[in-house]
Amino acid sequence: MQYVERNPRCIVIGAGVAGIAAAVEATRLGMSVVLVEAHRYVGGRARSFRDELTGDELDNGQHVAMGCYQNLRHILRELGTESLLAPNDPVPIAFASVRGERDVFNPYRWRGRLGVAHGLFHLRSFSLAERLQLLVGGICASLRSCEGLTAGDVLQACRQPANLMERFWEPLVLATLNAPISVADGALLRAVLRRAIFGGGDSHYLLVPRAGLSKLWQPLERWLSERGGSIRLGTRAEELVWLDDRVIGVATSSGEEIRGSAVIAAVPPKAYVRLLPQRYRSTVAFLAQLETMPIVSVYLWYDHTLALPPVVGLWGTTAQWVFDRGAFLERSDDQQRQYPGHVEVTISAAHALAQQPADAIVAKVSRELATVFPQMKNARLLHWRVIKERSATLLLTPKTSRLRLSPTNDIAGLYVAGDWTATRLPATLESAAASGIAAARAAAQMA
Ligand SMILES: Cc1cc2nc3c(=O)[nH]c(=O)nc-3n(C[C@H](O)[C@H](O)[C@H](O)COP(=O)(O)OP(=O)(O)OC[C@H]3O[C@@H](n4cnc5c(N)ncnc54)[C@H](O)[C@@H]3O)c2cc1C
Repeated sequence: MQYVERNPRCIVIGAGVAGIAAAVEATRLGMSVVLVEAHRYVGGRARSFRDELTGDELDNGQHVAMGCYQNLRHILRELGTESLLAPNDPVPIAFASVRGERDVFNPYRWRGRLGVAHGLFHLRSFSLAERLQLLVGGICASLRSCEGLTAGDVLQACRQPANLMERFWEPLVLATLNAPISVADGALLRAVLRRAIFGGGDSHYLLVPRAGLSKLWQPLERWLSERGGSIRLGTRAEELVWLDDRVIGVATSSGEEIRGSAVIAAVPPKAYVRLLPQRYRSTVAFLAQLETMPIVSVYLWYDHTLALPPVVGLWGTTAQWVFDRGAFLERSDDQQRQYPGHVEVTISAAHALAQQPADAIVAKVSRELATVFPQMKNARLLHWRVIKERSATLLLTPKTSRLRLSPTNDIAGLYVAGDWTATRLPATLESAAASGIAAARAAAQMA
């Protein structure tokens, strides 16, 4: 039996960033999209929700983007929400330590690579010789072959001294690859350096969302329906529907069988394996074994405004990054009066911390903040929330990076997307968007 429809139908499984990007791009390419999402919300690992006590919009973990996130920005432009990433208003990165050191990386004095060089040269916590080594090391790591090497191997080969490794490269790798420098894939560090740091134009701009993450995707449902598509929230794809060796649809938890000319599975690796019938599972069984990395996010509300820079990288503490949420998100006068100080603290690759109870994490992090920022000693903690994302991103090492699947696999009618697929990018919003767009293009070409 052959399925015939005027516009070829594309079924997208999963409404995370990859699925959203696939749905938008497939629609743009003339397909009629049905987006199926197991949860009752869109956004997957990039979503926000309201804190009941304070009314503040919280992300399931603070996210930042970079100017070079061209695929993500393309999708947001379509949805009309790119301005929430405020590309015209990039954020300098401050640094602070328990020993009272202060620094700021401000690469926005000039556009492009000149701005990066200028920003690096004005990092006053490093000696002039170190700043030169940093610049040369960055260029070296962005050019050399990284095949089979960890980020640490690459930087050692580029002769980076211990002080720079500890205070510059380790935080950069943790923040961008969510993995320790000793295991992270060196090729992904190279990708970050080439695209984000030395990409030119506004690629190195740090973009912090100016609203809860879910606002970025809010127009999606309407955008799709105006173009003949739809979203089924709270609907799990249970299995694929086959005609001989070709995928022709999806059977869902609501008992429906949706048929189409292409199916894009934009789900995490384990969920992808579960969708396949036994005869295909053995070929991708390794995907279910891949290790993931946790991120712990701590939201804190104080009775004083805290006078912190908007984004601060911390040296020598468990807490790695502090975001002044009040600097980015709109808050009502009431919120401002009742909970004037509102920050988020991010800890990547947080295996040990994720095992601790939430109140112990809060005690540790707030103590650290008060040590780094003496003005916080007088602020009283009014409210807190800890979010542990135990599987925040896939751990991509030189070995596991080779196992990433490409959007077109060997199965006719089935395409794969997700931050974990073979985009040659770290598992990020941009990787997810790039994978969704690539899968949609492949699907549209074959439809
Ligand atoms: C705390 C945290 C902080 C992060 N910080 C950053 C950052 O600063 N910058 C950055 O670029 N990236 C960051 N990331 C990574 C980024 O969030 C992810 O790379 C991206 O959201 C992944 O999107 P995805 O669509 O590939 O996967 P997901 O978001 O996991 O989407 C998969 C979707 O598929 C759905 N699904 C699964 N199985 C089924 C099924 N059978 N049927 C229907 N639906 C199904 C799921 O419910 C989910 O909605 C962070 C991640 C976390 C967790």
